[in-house]
Amino acid sequence: MSIRKQQIDRLSSTVFDVLIVGGGINGAVSAAALAARGVKVGLIDARDFAGFTSEQSSNLIWGGIKYLESYEFALVARLCKARNTLLKYYPSAVEEIRFLTSIPKSFRRHPRLVWAGAWLYWLMGRGFTKTPDYLSTRKLEQEEPVINTSLCRGGIEYSDAYLHDNDARFVFNFVRSAVDKGCTASNYLSARKAEWSANEFWEVYVEDKVDGREFTVRARSIINAGGAFVDTINATNNIKTRYRHVFSKGIHLIVPRITSSERVLAFFADDGRLFFAIPMGSRTCIGTTDTPVSDPNTPITDEDRDFVLDNINARLDLQRPLGREDIIAERCGVRPLAVENDVDTDVDFLQLSRKHVIELDSEKPYMSIFGGKLTDCLNVGDEVCGKVAELGIEISSNEAPENERWYGEPEAAQYSRYFEHAARLSLDEISLPGSEETLLTRLWRRYGMDAFAMLERIEHERSLVEPVIEEAALYRCELQHLADKEMITSLDDLLRRRTKIALVTPREKLQSSEGTMELCRAVFGEQAQEKYDEYFSK
Ligand SMILES: Cc1cc2nc3c(=O)[nH]c(=O)nc-3n(C[C@H](O)[C@H](O)[C@H](O)COP(=O)(O)OP(=O)(O)OC[C@H]3O[C@@H](n4cnc5c(N)ncnc54)[C@H](O)[C@@H]3O)c2cc1C
Repeated sequence: MSIRKQQIDRLSSTVFDVLIVGGGINGAVSAAALAARGVKVGLIDARDFAGFTSEQSSNLIWGGIKYLESYEFALVARLCKARNTLLKYYPSAVEEIRFLTSIPKSFRRHPRLVWAGAWLYWLMGRGFTKTPDYLSTRKLEQEEPVINTSLCRGGIEYSDAYLHDNDARFVFNFVRSAVDKGCTASNYLSARKAEWSANEFWEVYVEDKVDGREFTVRARSIINAGGAFVDTINATNNIKTRYRHVFSKGIHLIVPRITSSERVLAFFADDGRLFFAIPMGSRTCIGTTDTPVSDPNTPITDEDRDFVLDNINARLDLQRPLGREDIIAERCGVRPLAVENDVDTDVDFLQLSRKHVIELDSEKPYMSIFGGKLTDCLNVGDEVCGKVAELGIEISSNEAPENERWYGEPEAAQYSRYFEHAARLSLDEISLPGSEETLLTRLWRRYGMDAFAMLERIEHERSLVEPVIEEAALYRCELQHLADKEMITSLDDLLRRRTKIALVTPREKLQSSEGTMELCRAVFGEQAQEKYDEYFSK
C-alpha cells in the first residue's frame, strides 16, 4: 500500500487531538512542532503540500531590511532573530547570501544614509552575518559589470539568507519530519466543512481530490492554516474572528543566469519598492511585485511580466534586453496579509504589516493562522504549541532542552558519521555533473538521515550517481526514496515542489528527455504514461 493510502486510512479511523487544515509553511511547522511534543496530530491539504502560496515565494530568509523604512523595528528584530535561528539550525538548507543593492541617483535617501540603515540592520541581527560594505559607483561596476551604473550613486552590500533548494522543498521537509514523529498527513484532501459535535470533537468532511471519495475526520480541535483561504474556511465553519486577510499579488520570472556571481542583486523599482535578481541554480529568478488583488486565484498577466522585464532591463547592461522569449518559468502567488476587520485597506496598502496573528477560539477549540512568512516559521510552530496547551491538550514541555528541539537538521555528529561512512565507501569526493557541490552535500541537505540509505544503494550500483535528466539536478539514487516516502501524486509534485526542475529546465526539454519517462516509471510504476500525459497536456 502506498504511503498516501496508509495515511488516509489512519486519518479516517483516528480521533486526533488536532487536525490541521492546510499544509503550506504554517500548517507544516504546526504539524512538526506538535508531533514532536507528543500531540496526536493530523494534517491535510487540498492541493499538494506547499501547493499554493508557499511555492511562490522569493525563497528569501530575511530580516526584512525594507521594513526599517516603515519604522517596524520590532518586526525587523524578530525576523532577524528568526533568520539567525534558521541559519544556525539549517546550515545546509538555509545559506547566508550577499545582497548588492544599487542606489539610484534619484533615490529618496542619500547612499550614506542607506549604508547607516544597513549597519542598523546588521546590529539588529546581532552581528550574526558578515558586515555591510559601501561601494562607490566605480567599485560597483568592477564587482558587477552587468549593472548599469550610469544610473547609480553607489551601492550597499549586506547579508541575509536564502533557501538553497526551494521554498516548497523546505516546507515538505517539515511535513516529512512531522510524519516521522507520528503525525498522519496527506495531500489532495480538501476539508469541505467542519461541525462541532456534541461538545466533544469536530467532524470534518473531507474529499479526496484524487479519487473523489468522501470521508470524515474527527479531532478535538482544528487549526485553520489555509493561508489565503483561511477566511473562506472560517465562513463555512461558522467561525468569527477579529482578523481577516487581504491579498497582495507577487510574481517572479525565471530567466537564464544574468551574472555568474552567487549574490542577490537588489534594485529599487519604478514604484520605489525593492526588487531582486536571485540566483536559482543555473538560472536567475527576478521579482517581485506587490499588487492588491481580491481573488487569491489570480493569474500572472502581461502587465506583470512587462513590469518586471522593463524594470530589470533599465537597471542592467545586458548585450540584449531580456524579453518574454527568455522566460523559462514563472511564479505567481498572493501574500495573505493579516488585518483587523475594521482596518481600511484602501489606505496605504503597501504599509500593511507582514506579521502573523494566531487567533484562538477556546470554546470550540479552533485556531486560525493569519499572515506570516517562511522566515518566521519556527515562531509560528512554537506559538501554536502554546495555544494548543491553553486548550488543555496534553503537550510535552514547550521549553524543550537543546537536544529535544522539534526543528533543525540532524546534529553535526550525525553529519560526521555520514561523511565517514561515505569515505569508507569511497563516495566522499563524487562531484555532480554541471554543479559545484558534491553528491554528499546535496543528499544531506535534501534528505538528512535518509541519505545514509542512498549511499548504501550507490555502493551496490555505482551508476546511481548519474542524473536522470541531463542538466537537471536529480540523481538516480534519489528515485526510490521519492517513490516510497514523498507522497508524490502527480509529476508536478515532483518537478515543481519536491525539486525545482520545472523552474529551471525548459518544458520542451523535459518533454523530449528520455529521463522524464524513466522518472515517471520509477515513481508512478504502471501509471507512468498516464502521469506523463497528464502533466504535458496542460
Ligand atoms: C511573491 C511572494 C514572495 C514571498 N517571498 C517571501 C520570502 O522571500 N520570504 C518569506 O519569508 N516569505 C515570503 N513570502 C510569504 C510566504 O510565502 C507566505 O507568507 C507563506 O508561504 C504563506 O504560507 P501559508 O501556510 O499561510 O499559506 P499556503 O502556503 O498558501 O498554505 C495554505 C494551504 O492550505 C490549503 N488549503 C486551503 N483550503 C483548504 C481546504 N479547504 N482543505 C485543505 N487544505 C486547504 C492550500 O491548498 C494551501 O496549500 C512571499 C509571498 C509571496 C506571494
